[in-house]
Amino acid sequence: MPRRVTMTTRSCPCGLPEAYEVCCGRFHSRAASAPIAERLMRSRYCAFVRQDAAYLLRTWHPRTRPERLDLDPGMRWTGLEILDTTGGSAFHTTGTVTFRASYRGGSLHERSRFERVDGAWVYVDGDFPG
Ligand SMILES: [Zn+2]
Repeated sequence: MPRRVTMTTRSCPCGLPEAYEVCCGRFHSRAASAPIAERLMRSRYCAFVRQDAAYLLRTWHPRTRPERLDLDPGMRWTGLEILDTTGGSAFHTTGTVTFRASYRGGSLHERSRFERVDGAWVYVDGDFPG
């Protein structure tokens, strides 16, 4: 199977064409917060790539957030595909994002649920469609 090239060296690890600093980097540094659920989802994937557990925890719903998060330093994420979204816009308070996140040796297919808490999108939980 041919290897798919999902990003250039300049684009953000989340798959969008902008550089990291003006894409997910703004959310990771608290300079901005993700305006829609899909951008939060992308920034969380990007935080997995960059092993930013603190960002993952602070964008997790307080109701479902784990006490701590131990990221596997051997995990090599290779790309993110957004497959479907519902709600999650500036006009919504809930939303879902269905995605496939690939890593060396496999991929994760998840439908994640997001809610706004004090105006900011946070991850609630996910399930694994078919
Ligand atoms: Zn990004």
